Amino acid sequence: MAADEQGPLPPFSTTSDEERERLAQRLRQLTLGELVDVLRRVLPRHADEDGESILVLAEAFRSRPDPDDEPEEPYVELVAWPARDLYDGSIGPPWGLLESGRCDNCRALVTSTVKRAHCPVCGTLCGLT
Ligand SMILES: [Zn+2]
Repeated sequence: MAADEQGPLPPFSTTSDEERERLAQRLRQLTLGELVDVLRRVLPRHADEDGESILVLAEAFRSRPDPDDEPEEPYVELVAWPARDLYDGSIGPPWGLLESGRCDNCRALVTSTVKRAHCPVCGTLCGLT
């Protein structure tokens, strides 16, 4: 059966479009550090039951090649959650994701606003530079 023959989808959501737009508007008002702190509380809840996959925040870098060149594959780093307990509860400075490195445990490439942050995949405390 073709997708358009299946009829309307059941209501998978528990919120209205208007409610989600209001939430998005509020999230757009946050600084990057505040947004990361909110998503730290939300995204891990979307892990699968086996813990084999987890939803994370990532930053992708794309170089700007000559328009005639083939586009390059983006460089992706996962956003690590600042170790707030090591920074007196601070969410980190407001100037962006300037620290980066690799998780010693799961080897994920990570970035953060601070030098000490938890890997979003395995939770290991990472030392970033
Ligand atoms: Zn890790």
